[in-house]
Amino acid sequence: MSECIFCKIIRGEIPSRKIYEDDEMFAFTDIDPAAPVHFLVIPKKHIPSLLELETEDIGLAGRLLHKAQELAKEPGAGGGCGQNGARFVINAKRDGGQTVDHLHIHVLGGRALGWPPG
Ligand code: 5GP
Ligand code: ZN
Repeated sequence: MSECIFCKIIRGEIPSRKIYEDDEMFAFTDIDPAAPVHFLVIPKKHIPSLLELETEDIGLAGRLLHKAQELAKEPGAGGGCGQNGARFVINAKRDGGQTVDHLHIHVLGGRALGWPPG
């Protein structure tokens, strides 16, 4: 069994505020939100980072992105970001600021976000 904390969240071994789940992905609220809306969309397959994405994962990656924007537009946990917008972020490895080595898309919204990141 994987010791990865996001794999444990998928298996329900670590509690989370689930927003969405299907057979290949899981979405949940970030424990340390950086914006009024901040949730993560992750594949159930343990892919360590975007930099390890393989050709066979191309379809999955597209579906993760599609679900991320769909959830961002939903009124509940998604915060209804369809009108004002949101930011979709994938940090990869050390210089990218990745702290959990399981591919995840951050969805941030509910306020205007600065650019570029620090
Ligand atoms: P990264 O820095 O790797 O791009 O993002 C990891 C994110 O996972 C962070 O925003 C952090 O707050 C979130 N996170 C880390 N551990 C947990 C946890 O146990 N539960 C939840 N819901 N989020 C977590
Ligand atoms: Zn994992």
